[in-house]
Amino acid sequence: MDEGLKLNPDEAVVRRSEKIGYGRKKPFEIPGNRDELVLTNQSLILIKKGLLGGVKDYVRFPLSEVMIANGEAQAHVGKADFMTPTLDVYFQSGQESFRFEWENDARDWADSINEILTGKAPEKKDDMAWVAETLAMADSVAGSINKVRNALGIGQEEEASGICPGCGASISGIRGKTIQCPYCGTYYTF
Ligand SMILES: [Zn+2]
Repeated sequence: MDEGLKLNPDEAVVRRSEKIGYGRKKPFEIPGNRDELVLTNQSLILIKKGLLGGVKDYVRFPLSEVMIANGEAQAHVGKADFMTPTLDVYFQSGQESFRFEWENDARDWADSINEILTGKAPEKKDDMAWVAETLAMADSVAGSINKVRNALGIGQEEEASGICPGCGASISGIRGKTIQCPYCGTYYTF
């Protein structure tokens, strides 16, 4: 399929993906993601393909025309509809969208474009975001379980801590229960 892909002498392929759709899908359009996208150190090259896979056209989008804002190349992951991730690139001439099968792929492409244009390697913040999301989800699941327990009258004992009003010592116990401060004998309800 490379016969017609002409690279400049100092141009190198960085990424290449198949099953790409060009542009934001129009309503009711059948999502024919059959194009190919090539990222070189100079350009995005869209290889438009026909129904039978034959190459119809090569379209070059020079990276030198990608907008840079706050030191970041304007290449982001978006959504064409509720399902389809896109790589949205803002050129001086306007925005171009490429539909991807997988959001992670689109993100890798956005990171690569940014790296080529700004020299900045992508931060691995995505992994942390994933961890945070997972923890939040685990938390909300735990919260739901407690609600179910409470509804069934098998409320879970919850640890609590406080400051003894008598002597100021840190004390701990179970929420809703009364203890006697081990230091000064004052009764305290958490
Ligand atoms: Zn005390």
